[in-house]
Amino acid sequence: METTIKASHFIDLELVNGAHDYHPIPVVLERGEGVYLWDVEGKKYFDFLSAYSAVNQGHCHPRIVNALQKQAETLTLTSRAFHNNKLGAYMDYVTDYFNFERLLPSNTGAEAVEAAIKITRKWGYTIKGIPANKAEIIVCSQNFHGRTSTIISFSSDPGSKTNFGPHAKGFITIPYNDIDALEAVLETHPHVAGFLVEPIQGEAGVYTPDTDFIKKAKALCNEFNVLLMADEIQTGIGRTGSLLAVCGSCSCEGHCKQQADTYTRPDVLILGKAISGGTYPVSAVLCDSEIMDVIQPGQHGSTFGGNPMACTVAMEALEVIRDEKLTQNASRLGQLFRAEMQSYIDKSSIVLKVRGRGLLNAIVINDTEESKTAWNICLKLMENGLLAKPTHGNIIRFAPPLVMTEEQLGECIQIIRSTLACFEPNN
Ligand SMILES: *Cc1c(COP(=O)(O)O)cnc(C)c1O
Repeated sequence: METTIKASHFIDLELVNGAHDYHPIPVVLERGEGVYLWDVEGKKYFDFLSAYSAVNQGHCHPRIVNALQKQAETLTLTSRAFHNNKLGAYMDYVTDYFNFERLLPSNTGAEAVEAAIKITRKWGYTIKGIPANKAEIIVCSQNFHGRTSTIISFSSDPGSKTNFGPHAKGFITIPYNDIDALEAVLETHPHVAGFLVEPIQGEAGVYTPDTDFIKKAKALCNEFNVLLMADEIQTGIGRTGSLLAVCGSCSCEGHCKQQADTYTRPDVLILGKAISGGTYPVSAVLCDSEIMDVIQPGQHGSTFGGNPMACTVAMEALEVIRDEKLTQNASRLGQLFRAEMQSYIDKSSIVLKVRGRGLLNAIVINDTEESKTAWNICLKLMENGLLAKPTHGNIIRFAPPLVMTEEQLGECIQIIRSTLACFEPNN
């Protein structure tokens, strides 16, 4: 597809003036509503990325936008030097929603992961009794937890890491979904404070572990007095057909206090992305007081963290998840999507498999990671009115806003099937 002169203009402006830190699909968007996006030429698309699952509630959700507008006219930022009348209400609301005792507010996902690391290390020293500067945190290979210098230190992606050293120490990597490896490290390393894990690895290509992996990991963490730190920045807030991916197959919307058998309660929960419905950067760390209270005044902070805009927007965005039953919708449409894709794959040689949970899914393209096939499929999808992006070369993630209807999903499946058909070798 030809990039129009108008689109090229905007793309060139970025290319000439900006850091070349991304390689976007060549579409220039100017408007969004629900599951739809429009480019600068007025062409309409289905959004199948949802800003990496930040826009679970759909683009420009009227309730969230209204909350944002009203708060913007009233009070935007006080800093934490003073109290504001939204932060306490927000903390009360979110701790109740997710059933934790305390919340630490921040802005981006990486910041919340950083805060969780600090909390966990300090808990390790002051509560567990780890000797000074010996604390270790176990992480998984192929993880994605953000882009700060500490976080990339324990990435296994060379692009994220190479030439950005020296790297931070104190992290031990195990293979994902390998409970024996976790146990082996815990048995041989007495100074482990935490196990940081994504309940489903999104960036890595939507790797869904064995159903009991997180549950078994939690049991081991308990046995060895180690904190289970769940990074639900991408998987949380309804995306996987449950409020959190650690809820397992339970799709009740919001804070089920009488947790389902499938629920594994992490010690430290990290949220971001969809907590604001994609309108404003909001992230948070949640844990109980016994852990959170290791942080005292002056030991952590953020100028924008917990500002009244963030608090107001996040409460509304979480309320929308519940009121519109988006968790259940993700669960139902996700099953439909995978079934439809599977029936295509059964006759396909270009697509190897579909995997995922709820509306966080991916297809694996039958080509190498270095190949351009997945990228070219995404360009063709764009031409056909659906926006998605490859992750790790040969994997395409499909994550539409959770406000999608069954009818719209049907249309999308048509687009995806007919696009993929163009890439089948017999065509
Ligand atoms: C997006 C993401 C992050 C980082 O969030 P930012 O807001 O980009 O800093 C961390 N962990 C996971 C699992 C993510 O998907």
